[in-house]
Amino acid sequence: DRLIAADEKEGEAGFDRAIRPRTLSDYIGQPQVREQLDIFISAARGRKESLDHTLVFGPPGLGKTTLANIIASEMNVDIKSTSGPVLERAGDLAAMLTNLQPGDVLFIDEIHRLSPVVEEILYPAMEDFKLDIVIGEGPAARSIKLDLPNFTLVGATTRAGLLTSPLRDRFGIVQRLEFYDIHELTEIVSRSARLLGFESDIEGATEIARRSRGTPRIANRLLRRVRDYAEVRGDGRLQADIADQALNLLHVDRHGLDHMDRRLLLAMIEKFDGGPVGVDSLAAAISEERDTIEDVIEPYLIQQGLMMRTARGRMVTRQAYLHFGLSSGSDDAP
Ligand code: ADP
Repeated sequence: DRLIAADEKEGEAGFDRAIRPRTLSDYIGQPQVREQLDIFISAARGRKESLDHTLVFGPPGLGKTTLANIIASEMNVDIKSTSGPVLERAGDLAAMLTNLQPGDVLFIDEIHRLSPVVEEILYPAMEDFKLDIVIGEGPAARSIKLDLPNFTLVGATTRAGLLTSPLRDRFGIVQRLEFYDIHELTEIVSRSARLLGFESDIEGATEIARRSRGTPRIANRLLRRVRDYAEVRGDGRLQADIADQALNLLHVDRHGLDHMDRRLLLAMIEKFDGGPVGVDSLAAAISEERDTIEDVIEPYLIQQGLMMRTARGRMVTRQAYLHFGLSSGSDDAP
């Protein structure tokens, strides 16, 4: 069980409700995304139109779902949420679509995992707000065409490249979320601590921020664990030394890398001589799914300059050797 897994864990929903930002002005960081959405939302509201279909992509835990909810609340409409794998049959999507009120946001998480038959239904719905579906089978099959209210589809995915191009082309707005820097994460931690009634100082919040893999969901999760520690071993306040002790106990290192990150980097160094190595060989070497490596583990390691993707495969950088206190095998390591 990975403490710093970026996906949502059971039992976090209630906690999450208390701290999730509800307006664009509460949404910390991502300045470009915020500024652009602010303009598009104000313009759409001014014209009394629904917002264009919006695709949000980026690694898990960076705020895609939060942004979808904010779009709905800023547009003053309801949001209906579902996800790619849940919509198994065409009828599942048809039911969602016919349930929408004018202007509503339909949020589809993991939209790259829609089945082709469901995706086919989505095209005319997005383009012309029409539902075009065949019900029944054989001679009794009938084609049904319905007008849908105007709505905004907000799709979320980890990588834009996972979408088929006809689907990607139907989004008028495409926003990419970036990993958060330490200042932004410190602000997020301080804000969450305040909402939880957990007294904190800036150094304490910064210590958690530094070790959160650039990811708000992880920052909030670490905050919860540090709060437990502070209540039992400290004086109930978030301070740097308490955060440091708690996170050491949890094996989250000073760069926020956990055992999965370390395993990946060490496998590249020890088993593949630093690379280049193909992602499938790497997946086999650490018994991890290829998708997990590509979506969850490596984006942050690449952003931190610890590894690279090259045409010949993945390679660690000199900095990765340094991280483990090793000298890089060859001097031409990047
Ligand atoms: P995703 O859908 O990308 O996996 P979520 O939207 O569920 O991520 O966000 C994960 C958590 O991080 C939520 O608890 C939310 O409160 C917090 N969060 C995400 N983005 C921000 C932000 N920009 N400012 C403050 N908190 C954020």
